[in-house]
Amino acid sequence: MQSLGTRRVNHQNDAVAVAVAGAASTLPLYRSAPPLEVRLEDFEAFAVDRLRVLKAISDGLSRGKKPEEMKNLVDELLKTHMSHPKPSEAVNKDVISHFVLRLVYCRTEDLRKWFLSMETTLFRYRFKRESAEAQRALMADFNLPYKAVNTAEFESVKDKLGQVARSIGQPLLTADAIFYKVPFEDVPELVAGRRVYIHRGNAYVAMNQVVSLVVTQFRSFLSKALILTNRKWTSSIKEQEKDRLTPIVEVLSTSYLGPDYSQPRESAEISLKDIDHLAKSSFPLCMRHLYDKLKEDHHLKHGGRMQLGLFLKGVGLKLDDALAFWRAEFSQKVGAERFEKEYAYNIRHNYGREGKRTDYTPFSCQKVISSTPGVGDHHGCPFRHFSEENLRAALGGMGVGNRGMDDIIDKVRNRHYQVACTLTFEAVHGSSCDAGINHPNQYFIDSQKILQSKNQPTT
Ligand code: SF4
Repeated sequence: MQSLGTRRVNHQNDAVAVAVAGAASTLPLYRSAPPLEVRLEDFEAFAVDRLRVLKAISDGLSRGKKPEEMKNLVDELLKTHMSHPKPSEAVNKDVISHFVLRLVYCRTEDLRKWFLSMETTLFRYRFKRESAEAQRALMADFNLPYKAVNTAEFESVKDKLGQVARSIGQPLLTADAIFYKVPFEDVPELVAGRRVYIHRGNAYVAMNQVVSLVVTQFRSFLSKALILTNRKWTSSIKEQEKDRLTPIVEVLSTSYLGPDYSQPRESAEISLKDIDHLAKSSFPLCMRHLYDKLKEDHHLKHGGRMQLGLFLKGVGLKLDDALAFWRAEFSQKVGAERFEKEYAYNIRHNYGREGKRTDYTPFSCQKVISSTPGVGDHHGCPFRHFSEENLRAALGGMGVGNRGMDDIIDKVRNRHYQVACTLTFEAVHGSSCDAGINHPNQYFIDSQKILQSKNQPTT
């Protein structure tokens, strides 16, 4: 079993003092890479688990979840992906996974921006979960230069503080309430939200608001650290680790994290006669578009045949039925003989019956979205590749109403294609999809579950 020695992991961040956790807290500040032996398998597995958390946070934010919903989401994600039966191992996993992803996400401006934003959000919600005592310990670890307001000063501004607290629905002030006096420019979000009393250039920040101070520090520290890590990555780590860590790092930022759907679920099998009906009820827009084009033109180019063919295999179309399905369409255009000669091989190939006998995997949303369809191609993701006009028409054809349509288009304009697809799923099915859409085959399976639970005839 391979191990990553301490020396190697420390390449990326060897100059910062260790402060893994405050005395009463398990929330690390990630000041330096951990002096730990890390197995190569853990290096990747821990990073993948953290990535699941960050991606779900990103999805929650782009879907406009409220703070309370985000809090519950983060709690659930930490429990599902970051826990460990041994608390000390959970802290190690937390720190290691952060540093691996720091390497993965330091490499371009866009990657750094995304990672910084998601890690800061995660830190914010985790800080809020801590006890007041642990929060004070964390503040001390940050060496924040702010002093708590003394009793005499507190008495002199108590009425004003009470007014602000009432106006934002905070509990009444008690005699032992703790406030920090900080330059107002250090808490821009509290000032913008009129959530603090400001006097002579200072904001009076209540203990339950110090999260803003700490998060600002965390963000600024991490932002600088990512730039430093990037320099080290480019100047040495990438080359030194080219046979070991570099391939893992390079693949992690684009990896799809869900099931591969190469095998249909047990009991899931669809037959030729079902496809037409299923395409209307349960295909995501990308597959529905390919299906409609195939029916219209009796032909699809290679990219389209791969995208739709593997999807159909994943939802349970057996090889013989797949051959019959494609033959019925293509032979209308190219004739049965040419179909057998030029196209049947590729279909058998997709099912692992020809060539290297690899059982090919249906494409994830990430893969479909990042494809580059050319002229005459119909594959790709309509949310990314259609014009707005064509997308509106296609969504209308799926039964999406005007209000839902505007929300979806708004997400597309902000390049949140999977969120747009999730909203489409919810509009079409009248049911929520909290996990978000990550794979066309997941869209199909979730759709079937909903339709079956409504007792509609689905197959
Ligand atoms: Fe297909 Fe995924 Fe795009 Fe939805 S988001 S249309 S499932 S590729």
